[in-house]
Amino acid sequence: MDFNKSPEAAAADRKTRIFVDMDGVIVDFGAFMTDTGLSDDEVKELPGAYLEMSPIPGALEAVRGLIGMGYEVWIATKPPTGIPYAYADKVSWILQYLPELKRRIIITHDKGLLGGPGDFLIDDQPHKANCERFAGTLIRFGRGVGWADVLNRLRREAEPVCAAVEPA
Ligand SMILES: [Mg+2]
Repeated sequence: MDFNKSPEAAAADRKTRIFVDMDGVIVDFGAFMTDTGLSDDEVKELPGAYLEMSPIPGALEAVRGLIGMGYEVWIATKPPTGIPYAYADKVSWILQYLPELKRRIIITHDKGLLGGPGDFLIDDQPHKANCERFAGTLIRFGRGVGWADVLNRLRREAEPVCAAVEPA
């Protein structure tokens, strides 16, 4: 670490971080509820339920696409409160489907603690887990906004630096 750098210079040097929610963004929690006929709370209390859930179509490819664009991608998920095996099951899901993120898993009830200006949070329920306090840009997933839209937007965000050095 270069301690001679100003905090501003250090921030400019680091990669932009993208925090990605799990349920409804990369994990098809809703499809599991539909398939099993269980309620939200029943699913959360069912040991191993997470391991039966499918990825949202296109999500794994999209997350890897973001990594390929040079972003630092983190999983940011709110745990089923007070159900410790569900915390473990969520981590197991990531290890199974996105093992490259095994050191980038944040389980928190307060996503407002994460990131800084310039970073992104992709979440389908921004009224929960204090997402409104996230210091960067919140990308609301769902309700017509899918992974193709998110990728298009973040591809544009990633481009300006490259575009600026391209010959006319
Ligand atoms: Mg969610």
